[in-house]
Amino acid sequence: MNAPIGIIGGSGLYRMEGLSLDRTELVQTPFGAPSGPVHLGQLDGAPVAFLARHGEGHRFTPSEVNYRANLWALKSLGVERLISVSAVGSLQARHKPGELRLVGQFIDKTRQRKDTFFGEGLVAHVSFAEPVCAHATAALLKAGQSLSIPIEDGVTYVCMEGPAFSTRAESRLHQSWGADLIGMTQVTEARLAREAELCYACIALVTDYDAWREEEEGVDAASVLEVMHANVDKAQRLLRKVVPQLSCSPRSCACGEALKAALFTAPEAVTEDARKRLDLLVAKYGYGGR
Ligand SMILES: [Zn+2]
Repeated sequence: MNAPIGIIGGSGLYRMEGLSLDRTELVQTPFGAPSGPVHLGQLDGAPVAFLARHGEGHRFTPSEVNYRANLWALKSLGVERLISVSAVGSLQARHKPGELRLVGQFIDKTRQRKDTFFGEGLVAHVSFAEPVCAHATAALLKAGQSLSIPIEDGVTYVCMEGPAFSTRAESRLHQSWGADLIGMTQVTEARLAREAELCYACIALVTDYDAWREEEEGVDAASVLEVMHANVDKAQRLLRKVVPQLSCSPRSCACGEALKAALFTAPEAVTEDARKRLDLLVAKYGYGGR
């Protein structure tokens, strides 16, 4: 059977419509507990592993989400390709609330979260110049266009810490950088997905104009929620179209070899602890626990 495609659902996407559930798994990881159980099943015949990023009932802020445990849990269940969905604010007039965007680049402004599996005995520096999987992103774009969903790829996403939204001055600064969207979660997942050698693609659901527009009231949670629910329906349709397609197409990108030239620590210097902790990621390169 093909490796399941992982889906991480963000705000508003707490379950995957159409998923015929086989089982749920609450995975324990060396980095603690994930946001909740992983739901494993079939989506129109394709194996899928679904995880709600903020936990059941939306209990974790973007800073509190245990991203390392979430990515580890999905990897340990055999996921090779991961599609992540999250709500974003728009920094440019052409990205309208109700539309979908596929992220191509990130600017990382997070400051209080764990965003690497490495350290404490084993050092790795992965390449992150192209932070998402071009192959999976292209499949999403094509599927979105075939469904006539308003969608565009190659946009730049500023990732802020949150949980409060931006001030107007911050919003205008981000806009002046030429960035397209602002959100609170996806760059952290993208970093960890690269270290875990997973393909990673981001569906960003545009919910509001952030705070830069003079004529807007600024962001408030109620209007964000309203547009978000409408967007979630589009994201579900897109996922149901693309997952069966991706599931039967071979993995032709380099995402699965991201650690090949990234492990810097001399093998004899790697501690037993680090070998055991990171076995799932590095055993294939001869660094595994013994
Ligand atoms: Zn890939």
